[in-house]
Amino acid sequence: MRVRIDEIKDAGLERAWDMTREQVDEIVRDDRAGYRAGGPAHVAARLDRLGRRIRLRARAAADLSCPCGRCLAPVTLQVPVAFDLTLVPAEEAESVEHRAREEQGDRGGEVHSGGSFAARDVEEETYEGKVIDLDPIVREQLLLALPGYPVCQEACKGLCPACGANLNERDCGCPRRAPDPRWAGLEKIKIQ
Ligand SMILES: [Zn+2]
Ligand SMILES: [Zn+2]
Repeated sequence: MRVRIDEIKDAGLERAWDMTREQVDEIVRDDRAGYRAGGPAHVAARLDRLGRRIRLRARAAADLSCPCGRCLAPVTLQVPVAFDLTLVPAEEAESVEHRAREEQGDRGGEVHSGGSFAARDVEEETYEGKVIDLDPIVREQLLLALPGYPVCQEACKGLCPACGANLNERDCGCPRRAPDPRWAGLEKIKIQ
């Protein structure tokens, strides 16, 4: 979804669109949790302009599935995405960073080559030219919103490390805890 800056009037601009299932899938599939998209995702965004700075607020919800992090059973979940950030023209961001770098240099402080150490806070993104492409922003925010370790239920018992049985379904009878080999010597010591 591309928005021309001059489309954003005093009253702000609202945009809503759907990311296709394929688009959502492409975004989430590299996450190590093994997500797949369950369908398209609706995105609703609002843009307000203050000079050349643009405030972007947006919400989306992605229907995803993945294997449970403990027992591998399929898990379906809806991941809400909500963000509020400021888009700054790239030239402005650069000049602010440049100034910060010079000040840092004057003080004899360490100068980082990355240039993003001081002036940009994490809620700021930059844009160039007269058009803002919202897709990469939504993409990044969706990735940030993904739960790192989804499970089928909080109480999921996982798989037996010895025989692989799903412990939610049955108790396989294997010894619950394989002793740490570093304690092996202590096994001979009987507690009185
Ligand atoms: Zn599970
Ligand atoms: Zn077992």
